[in-house]
Amino acid sequence: MPESISDYYNFDEEVISQAFLKHRPKKVLVQLPEGLKHFYPTLLEKLENISEGLGLHNIEFHIDASPIYGSCLMDLTLTSRHDLVLHFGHKEYPYWSPPQNVVLIDLQYKGMPTSQTIQDLVRELVEEGVKRVGIYGTAQHDIGKIAEAFKREGIDVANDASRAVIFGCWYSDLPSLQGAEAYIIVAGGEFHALGAGLALGGTGKIYALDPYTNSYSFMNPYIEKILRKRYYLLMKAEDMSSFVIIAGICGQFRPAVINRLKSLIQSKRLKYTVAEAPYVTKEALGNLDNPYVDAFIVTSCPRLPIDDLSDYHKPVLTPGEAFMVLEGSMGRYIYPW
Ligand code: SF4
Repeated sequence: MPESISDYYNFDEEVISQAFLKHRPKKVLVQLPEGLKHFYPTLLEKLENISEGLGLHNIEFHIDASPIYGSCLMDLTLTSRHDLVLHFGHKEYPYWSPPQNVVLIDLQYKGMPTSQTIQDLVRELVEEGVKRVGIYGTAQHDIGKIAEAFKREGIDVANDASRAVIFGCWYSDLPSLQGAEAYIIVAGGEFHALGAGLALGGTGKIYALDPYTNSYSFMNPYIEKILRKRYYLLMKAEDMSSFVIIAGICGQFRPAVINRLKSLIQSKRLKYTVAEAPYVTKEALGNLDNPYVDAFIVTSCPRLPIDDLSDYHKPVLTPGEAFMVLEGSMGRYIYPW
């Protein structure tokens, strides 16, 4: 019996039923985040059962095999070829609304960090003199429930759990939260905790709490290491004169950021070219690169320069970093723009 996504996640079948009844689709595209795509056989079977139960027969279900890192980016040619798109596992990206035929389905992870793990983390917080925290996390986790567990252990929570969902380049009210002495980021791995640290410009204590591995880690040494590397690249980019600005699509198309970069570069009498790319890889940069390009600025996904392209042989900057260089304001680290 193949594994089912329902073994690990809850989702609201009623939302799916309503979507089927509203769109009465003949063709449905199913989008799953990276890491969960392999669950498609049992999921498609379940979706077929739901639609059959509603009297909707012979629907053709397709799985979207393109990379799905968030609700910020989807292949609109593909979505337009289907009557209905079921996008699992992400909330709506704050800077973009998907087309009308896309329905976002929440996935709630069934596991929670154990009381023992929370107590161990609380002990570490208390040793550090922390009594009040901000707790944020990705959409798959019940932040309200986890915040309650911390409160039961005597730790105050400074933020509102209903606004605690974060994205890799959007941190809700975390950067302006008052009174938190540390931040706990509930998510798989360290990606979002690193982003929170960058969004705070390297100030503030950050702990990553991972419900999948039931473990936590103090992130600041790692964040400082990444920041040292970023500042090294910024120093290299300071006297550069020719840039390629990468523009993305869907929620990753940011005209205001691109226009600000263009004006700044023009005002300094430097050069730029705008390159349009839905996905950016090292190979794509290599194909664009030539002796007249000094640095790249990625305005699509600001995590690519940090996570995927940091070892490219020329500086690849986030928009925030490019503003720091072009405005000569190297003091506080700016993330994402
Ligand atoms: S970090 Fe990148 S993938 Fe994640 S929400 Fe932002 S633009 Fe999308």
